[in-house]
Amino acid sequence: MKRSIDTVNVGGRRMFLRVDFNVPLEDHQITDDSRIQASLPTILDLANRDARVILATHLGRPKGTATVDLRTGIVAARLSEMIGRPVLAIGQIVGPLVDDAIAAMQPGDVVMRENLRFDPREEANDPDFSRALAQGCDLFVNDAFGAAHRAHASTVGVARLLPAYAGRLMNKEISALNQLVDAPEAPFVAVIGGAKVSDKLTVLDRLIERVDALIIGGGMANTFLLAMGHAVGSSLVEASRTEDALRLLQAAESRGVLVELPTDVTVASSLGARSGQTVDVSGVPADQAIYDIGPRSAARFAGTIANARTVFWNGPMGVFERSAFAAGTRRIAEAVADTAAFTVVGGGDSLAAVTQLGLSPRIDHLSTGGGASLEFLEGRLLPGIEAIPDAVNEPSTIP
Ligand code: ADP
Ligand code: MG
Repeated sequence: MKRSIDTVNVGGRRMFLRVDFNVPLEDHQITDDSRIQASLPTILDLANRDARVILATHLGRPKGTATVDLRTGIVAARLSEMIGRPVLAIGQIVGPLVDDAIAAMQPGDVVMRENLRFDPREEANDPDFSRALAQGCDLFVNDAFGAAHRAHASTVGVARLLPAYAGRLMNKEISALNQLVDAPEAPFVAVIGGAKVSDKLTVLDRLIERVDALIIGGGMANTFLLAMGHAVGSSLVEASRTEDALRLLQAAESRGVLVELPTDVTVASSLGARSGQTVDVSGVPADQAIYDIGPRSAARFAGTIANARTVFWNGPMGVFERSAFAAGTRRIAEAVADTAAFTVVGGGDSLAAVTQLGLSPRIDHLSTGGGASLEFLEGRLLPGIEAIPDAVNEPSTIP
């Protein structure tokens, strides 16, 4: 556990609160606000204790340039609805507008900076940018578990300049995920899907040292199917990573880790298709793409999940945003909800899928982090977490 906001007197102080409000958006609408929900305990606690709360988040992947569709006004407005108080979207990350807004704040006020990733210095962890972010703030609170695996200016840089604390969500994530790292009950099954294939492939290498079975679905599976000699048509695939995929399969085999891949898939000629058709993985037509795992694969995966004692799931099994390709993800989500195992689901889109299906109350821990939860599970130290001092066991002396 990290030094908590419980140990500090926040009244009247200007708190720089880094959150992960990187919510899924479609047509300028928030499709799932789980990540905002998850930080409410921290935000409300600080505001109720009369802190001045200065929020900052990234949203989407604007890659260092201002992008109208990814302005934080949309998440500030949703937060305001959820907490029933005004949340001023400043419209600037650092600079005179921010300085003025902070100067005008009363105790209990909540404001939000513009999207951190509009500025390339955020992801570069630029020290000048960290200094500009810290300016005018008294304390730093990090609740952005989802961004903890990256050493960015607002996660690591600022923590060196201001006294740093973990928000409630951050500590909750750490203690839940520690249960998976410290002696998880066997069989431990990891289910990995989604679209960030390159990001996740490297993680799998370390993951097979920890799990008894690895289930691979979603866009992730296509690279493995290609590596095994199957044609994948126009599917999302990383042809340059097939060697890595084969190496992973071999490493898993020599460790006695069961790897389960789809044997049937749902294909269509485009994402806009009203429905897909189920084919064997050896029969994907050249002009079609894999958008979901097939029913046979889903049933087999569900069986493995039912027999597990510990389950970690990151990444949807298909393009669940389209109802024609949601069945595989739904089947897996139900299996994770039904199993007697200790269950953790992580990742923005995975969370959205589970929430939309109404299954969140039946999952033991919903992690707001995708990449971050995977790296935590690998046993890596995450820079955003390392930057916060550890909790001390002594009776708290409130500074
Ligand atoms: P998370 O946010 O849970 O970490 P990712 O961001 O890695 O998950 O992946 C989620 C995305 O993966 C979803 O938008 C989903 O549509 C997409 N996806 C899943 N399977 C496929 C597939 N077969 N082809 C293309 N995209 C896919
Ligand atoms: Mg995602």
